[in-house]
Amino acid sequence: MEIQEKKNIYVGVQTTQTRDIRDFFMEIDSYKNILVFAEVGEDKVCDNSLELLGEANRLKNIRNNDSFVIAALVGHNVKKYAPTLFGYGADKVVAFDSPMLEVYRSDLYGEALAGIVRTYHPEIVLVGATALGSELAPTVAAKLRTGLAAHCTALKILDNGQFTQVVPAFGGKVLGDIYIPNHRPQIASIKAGITKKLDYAPKDGVVEDFSCELNGFERMKVTKVEKETETCKSLNEADCIVVGGFGIGSKEEWSKLEELASLLGGANGCTRPVLDAGWVSNEKAMIGTSGVAVRPKAYLGIGVSGAAHHTCGIKDSGLIISINKDENAPIFACSDYKVVADYKKIVPALIEELKARKG
Ligand SMILES: Cc1cc2nc3c(=O)[nH]c(=O)nc-3n(C[C@H](O)[C@H](O)[C@H](O)COP(=O)(O)OP(=O)(O)OC[C@H]3O[C@@H](n4cnc5c(N)ncnc54)[C@H](O)[C@@H]3O)c2cc1C
Repeated sequence: MEIQEKKNIYVGVQTTQTRDIRDFFMEIDSYKNILVFAEVGEDKVCDNSLELLGEANRLKNIRNNDSFVIAALVGHNVKKYAPTLFGYGADKVVAFDSPMLEVYRSDLYGEALAGIVRTYHPEIVLVGATALGSELAPTVAAKLRTGLAAHCTALKILDNGQFTQVVPAFGGKVLGDIYIPNHRPQIASIKAGITKKLDYAPKDGVVEDFSCELNGFERMKVTKVEKETETCKSLNEADCIVVGGFGIGSKEEWSKLEELASLLGGANGCTRPVLDAGWVSNEKAMIGTSGVAVRPKAYLGIGVSGAAHHTCGIKDSGLIISINKDENAPIFACSDYKVVADYKKIVPALIEELKARKG
């Protein structure tokens, strides 16, 4: 993938005027280890969290300073997930198990995770950029008065030991290296599919119980829980993904892409403008920094320009084929096959050909 320009962007409270007296007592050196928030959903640990355990191990190996990887479980009856976390790379599991945490609420989960961080002093905290994590991570960062880089596309440790979070900025044209120099922990949220799980290897480990006062932190009341049902094939299950961009032009044209995906036995994905325009209603179909990252055997991008916000979510795809009428479209820079054409001529012909072969 091409990086057009690189800039360093600093976050964190750095000036004396905006500093709180508590900041002067923050002993940065007392923060060590990497903590991963282990999100549980559908009665299992989310894949995103298991991937982050793999990433935490990669960072730990670079740190090479006896750091260990802590997985934080928050919820009710969650200790049963500890073996999974050990198997995917946790050295220690800290479990905050309470009936008050049965259903996710940012007020109580925020206080619970902040409590774990205050006690264990991790240098780095990794949270999946899921719907839940995208709310929880800033809640915890605000409580702890520290910095957060949201929707990172990569994490690095520089030769001087500086932990660096990479985030696309300015419409994806620039990749920003974000440092949090004066505050700890350094919090990063990352989408599913960007980092990699370790191979599962069962191992024993110690589970430490944790609790802190939650009474008095309630700001909301849960009255009803409704579960969303999956209506389309998940992008992570599909070998072939047909992705439509804003170049498709209208909701009516979108049905052609659905027909093509169905004939290929694949799934449909989209870019952000397509979701914003309402041509697709399933938010989980959006690929990129604010959507999902995918690794299909074949990605077919139609009317997609190739902004970094989107291409960072497809970089691990097998074969990338793109159809775009603009020969200078950036998507071609990361494509294996480039079709410079109006998709309205190509897609109907493809559909006919596939139908004929099936027939
Ligand atoms: C904070 C932030 C987060 C973002 N997160 C995401 C994200 O997760 N995912 C994402 O996708 N975007 C994201 N974006 C938006 C992103 O920066 C781009 O704007 C977006 O990806 C562009 O979508 P597109 O390629 O569909 O549309 P466009 O950039 O409008 O491109 C349309 C393309 O279609 C081509 N075209 C037009 N007509 C035809 C035709 N008849 N036949 C063939 N080709 C045609 C054009 O040449 C053009 O290249 C984010 C932006 C911000 C600021």
